Amino acid sequence: MKSAIIKSLFATVLLIFVSNFNLQSQPADNRDKMREMVKYLSSDELKGRFPGTDGIEKAAAYIEEQFQSIGLKKFANSYRQEFDVTTALKAGDDNNVIFETIIQRPGIPVEKLPRAKQNWVVNQDFVPLAFSDNKQVYGEIAFVGFGISAPELKYDDYEGIDVKGKIVLLISENPDKDKKDSPFLQYSSLRYKATNARNKGAIGMIMVKIQGDSMNVFERLEYSNIGKNSGIVAIQAWRQSLSKFFPKNKLLIELENNIVKNKKPESFILPNVFVSIKTDLQDVKSSTSNILGYVEGTDTKLKDEFIVVGAHYDHLGYGGPTSMKGHGGRPQVHNGADDNASGVVSMIEIAQKFMQNPPKRSVIFVSFSAEEMGLLGSVHFVNNAPIEIDKITSMINLDMVGRMKKNELTVFGTSSSNAFDSIIDSLDLSDTVAVTKASDAYGPSDHASFVTKNIPVLMFFTGIHEDYHKPSDDWDKINYQGMIWATDYIYSVVNTLANTESRPSFQRTSIGEAPKRRTDREQGYGEVWFGIIPNFEEHPLGCKISGSTPGSPADKAGLVADDIIVQIDDANIKNLYDFMYKVRSHKAGDVLNVHILRGKDYKEKVELKVTLVTKTK
Ligand SMILES: [Zn+2]
Repeated sequence: MKSAIIKSLFATVLLIFVSNFNLQSQPADNRDKMREMVKYLSSDELKGRFPGTDGIEKAAAYIEEQFQSIGLKKFANSYRQEFDVTTALKAGDDNNVIFETIIQRPGIPVEKLPRAKQNWVVNQDFVPLAFSDNKQVYGEIAFVGFGISAPELKYDDYEGIDVKGKIVLLISENPDKDKKDSPFLQYSSLRYKATNARNKGAIGMIMVKIQGDSMNVFERLEYSNIGKNSGIVAIQAWRQSLSKFFPKNKLLIELENNIVKNKKPESFILPNVFVSIKTDLQDVKSSTSNILGYVEGTDTKLKDEFIVVGAHYDHLGYGGPTSMKGHGGRPQVHNGADDNASGVVSMIEIAQKFMQNPPKRSVIFVSFSAEEMGLLGSVHFVNNAPIEIDKITSMINLDMVGRMKKNELTVFGTSSSNAFDSIIDSLDLSDTVAVTKASDAYGPSDHASFVTKNIPVLMFFTGIHEDYHKPSDDWDKINYQGMIWATDYIYSVVNTLANTESRPSFQRTSIGEAPKRRTDREQGYGEVWFGIIPNFEEHPLGCKISGSTPGSPADKAGLVADDIIVQIDDANIKNLYDFMYKVRSHKAGDVLNVHILRGKDYKEKVELKVTLVTKTK
């Protein structure tokens, strides 16, 4: 017995040792390898991997090396699919502002009165604003306070003043100044003020900063791809340079203080002053690349069908409009360890597993660029796919799989094919991951570019966290054991899809209920749901969409992919911001007359009626 006891004791110790060995040594190696890869991709050296920078180029070369070393096949002899993106804006040489002041002389008819001209100097007296149209305008100046029309607050800076064909002059922020919970907050952005001014008929906009610490700070020319095509010429003026054009009895500072104190507009036309404004903004284009390779399937028939496994490798660089770091402070590298170095590394691991054990169907591995800029890399891929798009049987997206909490792994998109639920349920790896299924297939990541092409999609995600889109999204916060478990699970899903005879059929199902309300100040459409899937590629004609969320008001009205919204009721819609401000000014139950362009060369003009519904609490 004793010996039996010693033997069994020995066996137990051996068992523990072996399993530990299996658990510790091999995962440890894998963990170390994954850590080193995430560490490099999210290192300060790569400067947050912003498209068009040398930092992202290093990341691209690194991913190519990985593809090369595991032996992935190339399309067209290259792992790269290059495309251009606008990465910045710069002021051209042709920005100019000329003020004309009529010099009063008694007894001389107005048209004969002399005019004093004053040329402003760019970057000294004024700067063009990033969303300005490139055009020249000339006209009278209408001071319109904060440029806000808030009917529910019984406040309208445009009441009783006609600004058609004029240039409006307005103050930044709102009459509550920097009050955190002000009801004016949603009217504080310059984009809203530009859309409002244009819809009132103004041809130009001069913004002056509200009194305060940053009143003498010029806005940076920050490129935002949903912001262009504003339909108005817009500049920021230096407060001191501008205030001298106000009449002595109506000084800018007094007007501002009155509005803030009384919450009452003080709008009027500046007497005897005209201004000519010419703006010249130039897009800075950069070339960037999707990195792709594939494992050829083993089955003579199925190898001609492809599963796409994708993970974007770009990130925010030093911040920009979608940084959650908050304004002010020096720009910092947004390392993007979880978003999305984790997805890239997990994808490379999965590619390696398939190279060692190729499945029946072929699998394409693609690391997209410019996802943070509006899915530009995946949109480019689906519009320029290396194979016929209908040969793609499904798309599996990995975006943020590095911060697993309590073994939880979420998979979105299960409603996009009736094959997915049973596959997910059959692959129960519950001793490592607890999988949560989410039906919505239209989320804000690269799979959205595929589902709008009627391709079944799944997106894997380990959850949002406090470092999301911040410089603190670092490699040492990654749960590497969780990444291994997620990788193994995702591999098993893809492997099942790649070896199953039939391809998953696409189904366009309603996501059921309206999405949750958004809290953040600017973005989001307030309390109501319209249901378009925005397309982040600019279009000169208006607000182009990538589709409608199934079951949404837009879907029920018949809006489809590539439609361009140009007008809603009497409001012109030139871009996504115009669309957002118009929709959120309405309430559930309102029926909107939506004018769209579609068809060849967008020659077809159609009017659709969209009935808004409430967003879910
Ligand atoms: Zn991401």
